[in-house]
Amino acid sequence: MQTKKCAYCRKPIAQGKEVKKELRYVHGAQLARKENDYCSKQCAEHDQMAHES
Ligand SMILES: [Zn+2]
Repeated sequence: MQTKKCAYCRKPIAQGKEVKKELRYVHGAQLARKENDYCSKQCAEHDQMAHES
């Protein structure tokens, strides 16, 4: 069985506990979107912040 890992802290995510968040960030001149899985809302927010500058 495949264990999902948090896209921010890289810890394994307990089954059913994943927080999905669509990340938006500027990639070159374009706005890119990517859906990631996180272990918590905090990780999702921190990762979004890390992509905004
Ligand atoms: Zn995490």
